[in-house]
Amino acid sequence: MKDLEKFRDPGIAKALIKEIRIMAARETERLGRRAVFMEVCGTHTVAVSRAGLRGILGDYIDLRSGPGCPVCVTDYGDVDRMVRFARLRGNVTVGTFGDMVRVPGSDSSLERERAMGADVRILYSPADAVRYALDNPQREVVFLGVGFETTAPATALAIKEAKARNLENFSVFLAHKLVPPAMEVLLSDPELKIDGFILPGHVSAIIGRKAYTFLEGYGLPSVIAGFEPNDILDAIRLILKMMGEGESRVVNGYTRVVREDGNMIARRQMEDVFTVCDASWRGFGAIPRSGMAISSDYKDLDASQRFLPAPVTPRIPTGCVCGEILKGKLTPRDCRLFAKSCDPRRPVGPCMVSSEGACAAYYQFDRHLKGVADDALQ
Ligand code: SF4
Ligand code: SF4
Repeated sequence: MKDLEKFRDPGIAKALIKEIRIMAARETERLGRRAVFMEVCGTHTVAVSRAGLRGILGDYIDLRSGPGCPVCVTDYGDVDRMVRFARLRGNVTVGTFGDMVRVPGSDSSLERERAMGADVRILYSPADAVRYALDNPQREVVFLGVGFETTAPATALAIKEAKARNLENFSVFLAHKLVPPAMEVLLSDPELKIDGFILPGHVSAIIGRKAYTFLEGYGLPSVIAGFEPNDILDAIRLILKMMGEGESRVVNGYTRVVREDGNMIARRQMEDVFTVCDASWRGFGAIPRSGMAISSDYKDLDASQRFLPAPVTPRIPTGCVCGEILKGKLTPRDCRLFAKSCDPRRPVGPCMVSSEGACAAYYQFDRHLKGVADDALQ
């Protein structure tokens, strides 16, 4: 069997599910509730839903989505500032990733600003923004950098390249975030009882397994997982096994991609161009040392410094509980607007916009599942 086939093999999946159900039933008895596992990655959220694991394991484990989608965790205030960049009009071009364009801010979105005449472009990489700036010297190109440790190195590289080329019509608004500090906030929340983390694959490829060893201090078993169904099932099995044995290690279950120290070249790119700073997350508020700022050597490429859009007080749409979903306190089905006045065609919040958003994943794959009790909050 080829390597990848084994991660999709239904026979292996069946055996894993059987084992998981036996171990999870034991944990339910011990805890007096189902064990709560959080997937801290938007792609895992989608993979779990697509493989039907919420339905298959729902009676045994409470699988919660966390702050794993970089678009979803972008704070309202930052979305509003992005809209302000688009409103500069004139010779300003704003470029960012596809999902970000549709995220509603307080009173507009980049998509709406584009419909009203702003030059907003969907780009596949920060390097595309540099190329566009080179090809269009008469335009001011503002790249909106969104994402976790996965995409931040590419933004750092683009900033370096722009600097090396003395590109004066290029700047970046940085909204990149670091995953581990948000996990620490979740762990210190007394309302939320998380028994194990399914750790992100791509983020871990950059930061490495060691970046999570702080979790062991919280007594929390965690497994870095790949994105195939059997990767995720095996991660769940390993967490349950550790729970049963009273262990709380951080296990790398994605050794075909993730190393102990991550990707040193990518990490160095970030360290060269960014400094760690406090950042605001949707639903969480300000989290110390969870964001990145452009370091002083590259300050002239910081769009905030160049255009200085004033801070704004965001307005949050009534009824949208994206913030609580991102903290794992609610599931999309708990939102009164879910699949009623909010769906992927008319999204009210980012969790329904983003392809990695929990609401979009539940809408596409899980919306007919029965509701689950909120054991985690009891
Ligand atoms: S960027 Fe990678 S790790 Fe982050 S949410 Fe997306 S798939 Fe998961
Ligand atoms: S269903 Fe829509 S309104 Fe409700 S939390 Fe999700 S995105 Fe927000």
